[in-house]
Amino acid sequence: MAGEQLRYDGQTVVVTGAGGGLGRAYALFFASRGANVVVNDLGGSFKGEGGGSKAADAVVNEITSAGGKATANYDSVENGDKIIETAIKAYGRVDVLINNAGILRDISFKNMKDQDWDLIMKVHVVGAYKCARAAWPHFRKQKYGRVINTASAAGLFGSFGQTNYSAAKLAQVGFTETLAKEGAKYNIHANVIAPIAASRMTATVMPPEVLDKLKPEWVVPLVAVLVHKSSEETGSIFEVGGGHIAKLRWQRAKGTLLRADDSFTPAALLKKWDGVADFSEPSYPTGPANFMELLEDAHKLPPNDP
Ligand code: NAD
Repeated sequence: MAGEQLRYDGQTVVVTGAGGGLGRAYALFFASRGANVVVNDLGGSFKGEGGGSKAADAVVNEITSAGGKATANYDSVENGDKIIETAIKAYGRVDVLINNAGILRDISFKNMKDQDWDLIMKVHVVGAYKCARAAWPHFRKQKYGRVINTASAAGLFGSFGQTNYSAAKLAQVGFTETLAKEGAKYNIHANVIAPIAASRMTATVMPPEVLDKLKPEWVVPLVAVLVHKSSEETGSIFEVGGGHIAKLRWQRAKGTLLRADDSFTPAALLKKWDGVADFSEPSYPTGPANFMELLEDAHKLPPNDP
């Protein structure tokens, strides 16, 4: 496919939270490359308050006036079945789901209220689940599907004032990894991105000269490649923003092995602590089996010198 223009003719792409920011950029792109696009947006504030049809309608109008095909949906992602139903009713199929909708309820953990926690979980975790769950039977039946879930650096690394958002965003990683495994047999691929882009979400936390270098359109190429039918990529995590695109993976330190003759005590562990955090010879685990192999290997070794 290298060098050719990627196209999505005849496919239906559902983009949640497509009324602005990154979602709008995805929607405009896929429509411009031949896809039917479901433009979902609840139309509320970035804190998840209110709602309306304006945001989604504006993007649908942009697409249709440029000659593209798009349908609006105004449901919350918590009602993912309704969003997928819109795709099926309008276009008879769903091929790509981009779980992008999101809100923020930033507040220090000391002051966090259940409402701040619950709303973030509902939109990000329940929302991504509901949309994927509704699309899944269609994907399996047609032996084709592409899912993008949206994490965040806040989830991968933590971020002051965002315990709720961080927890919900790292959840996208585990969710994606398992979807990728369960989908493999059916040509359903799932990947997760941690984007960074200028949007109303970041408008108040970054200076204009930085935001200028973080165009939402610059996140689109990665998503376009990942959801294309030619892509083999699945179960991967990417950081993307400002034109920089990089895959992330786990790294394991060399580790330390306590043996029965060490008595498995905290004191024995402290004596060998250096190995626990020794990244001089790292390994890159991709699943729980790697850990079991490591144990098998380790236990074959002769006992430690006293
Ligand atoms: P944005 O606020 O411009 O877009 C999010 C959209 O989702 C809005 O149009 C909003 O109305 C919609 N939405 C919110 N709740 C919804 C719901 N329940 N149902 C349907 N739609 C809903 O923000 P953005 O920056 O474009 O964010 C897009 C995604 O990227 C979010 O998941 C966000 O958490 C994530 N993200 C963004 C950045 C960044 O730098 N912009 C960084 C990390 C992660």
